[in-house]
Amino acid sequence: MNDCIFCKILSGEIPSYKIYETDKAYAFLDIACDAVGHTLVIPKKHFASILDCDADYLDAVIEAVKHVSRHYVEDCGYDGVNVFNASGAAAEQSVFHLHFHIVPRKEGDGMSMWPLSGKRDIDLAEICKKLAL
Ligand code: AMP
Repeated sequence: MNDCIFCKILSGEIPSYKIYETDKAYAFLDIACDAVGHTLVIPKKHFASILDCDADYLDAVIEAVKHVSRHYVEDCGYDGVNVFNASGAAAEQSVFHLHFHIVPRKEGDGMSMWPLSGKRDIDLAEICKKLAL
């Protein structure tokens, strides 16, 4: 896609710090520098989000997420990872080329990745009735 930042990274038009790649997936450092090692994994074909990504590319991206995550834990001294995806503006997606965030974590690193809604009165049975497939 012409005006997609991540397509420009894939074509080399915009530089990136490559961590790993396969024929269908590409992993590189997020420029946010909000957490050491914050990594993005994207498909090498343009899909806006997880909602329109085809199974082949999604499989390849998830496989790459796992591979990079294992590398961080087994070879790079991390104890775990957080894996995130935002799909859709309402979910705070800001770049509309599918990507998974990997944030490597260390015991006691002081970060917290779980947003709290503050709601305590959620009726799980009611929610399940609405959402189950
Ligand atoms: P999201 O808000 O989930 O869509 O995440 C988009 C991410 O892309 C943000 O964490 C940005 O810091 C990151 N980002 C934007 N432009 C670049 C770039 N040129 N290189 C690396 N990461 C980028």
